[in-house]
Amino acid sequence: MTIYPPRVVPLGGVRAMNVRRTIPRIGRTTIGAWCFLDHYGPNMVSTASTGSGTDTATDGMAVPPHPHTGLQTVSWLFQGEIEHTDSVGSHQLINPGEVNLMTAGRGIQHVEVSTPNTRWLHGVQLWVALPDSARHNLPFFEHHVAPRASVGAASVTVFVGELLGVTAPTTVFSPLVGAEILVPAGQRIELPLNPEFEYGLLVDAGDVIVNDELVEPAHLLYEPTGKDSMVIEVGEQPARLLLIGGVPFGEKLVMWWNFVGRDHDEIEAFRARWQNEVVDGSNLEGDFGYVAYPSGPLPAPEMPTVRLRPRG
Ligand code: MN
Repeated sequence: MTIYPPRVVPLGGVRAMNVRRTIPRIGRTTIGAWCFLDHYGPNMVSTASTGSGTDTATDGMAVPPHPHTGLQTVSWLFQGEIEHTDSVGSHQLINPGEVNLMTAGRGIQHVEVSTPNTRWLHGVQLWVALPDSARHNLPFFEHHVAPRASVGAASVTVFVGELLGVTAPTTVFSPLVGAEILVPAGQRIELPLNPEFEYGLLVDAGDVIVNDELVEPAHLLYEPTGKDSMVIEVGEQPARLLLIGGVPFGEKLVMWWNFVGRDHDEIEAFRARWQNEVVDGSNLEGDFGYVAYPSGPLPAPEMPTVRLRPRG
């Protein structure tokens, strides 16, 4: 097993928020089809627009309309409430214990804003790469209450795939699992694994030792295929963990800005389509459709001067 530290990435926009990104990283593009893991908070959301002056204070989440292609976004909250709006007509609040899954396919745009009910904002934003056979499909959105299971003293909420005999209703296109695991202080659990899956275990909080190795908060443990269980021991602080896993993806990807593609030219074409149809135009018949928002859509950054290379 390998332990990956996070890197802090500021999200764009007026109300910028720092996130802790663990994948993708050099040498690790995917875990199963999971291709992106941003971990944020707990951030206190200030009600005053001037901010409260503490390190973790934020004005909340407010991501203007932006596109996605070739991926699914999975939103999972530990605390807070987010309002999702997208170009296929979805409008959905999400709270802890619920999952928002947006399948971008050939193209979609969406807005995510934390609501005035949000005092603390804390959670993860994940992406799943769509296999070549599904990445040109029409976009769709779904929202579910995630089923619960338990192992030893731990309670487990499964938001993607199957674990401990329960199966999440979320639509996926390759074998995957995603779950939140709460382990009380002083407890030890043995979590069953699928030997065909590789796994990532993110520590959100707690004193956590996995297979006799300490994993610090905000770090991601990577476990390759071939294991049938994982022993998790928790010290004096209760632990919240996020488990992701899947069959190794096996397709090389180019990930740039909010797009997942297969080569540089395809990414450049996605960018041109977003800029021409939405940012500089008003082509409601285009793949990205339309979402109403006061400040308008987010322009794409300039393409890099070097060609993007497929990884994974
Ligand atoms: Mn998004």
